[in-house]
Amino acid sequence: MACNESGASTSAGNPEMLDCTTAMRMLWDFLDGHLADADDAAVRAHMDRCSHCFPHAQFGELVLKAVAAQRAAPEQSSSLRERVLSRLRLEGYDEL
Ligand SMILES: [Zn+2]
Repeated sequence: MACNESGASTSAGNPEMLDCTTAMRMLWDFLDGHLADADDAAVRAHMDRCSHCFPHAQFGELVLKAVAAQRAAPEQSSSLRERVLSRLRLEGYDEL
């Protein structure tokens, strides 16, 4: 990667040196694929090295997968419909 590690630049100049707060703030955009290439690489590099943030990234990935699976499940609409209808019956809308 970068070969110019002469120490001439400031600490803010290294895109791979994210702190945990910044990495966590960018996590959801990272998982959604919304980050620019440089930011995406920076978050990825941080997750690779940081044992504190890595579980958060894994958890976030699981949540996104679960949400996507919910959206994709064809039976979800009918069971939601059932729940809405039974709720309406409970509220007294028996004629529906
Ligand atoms: Zn971290």
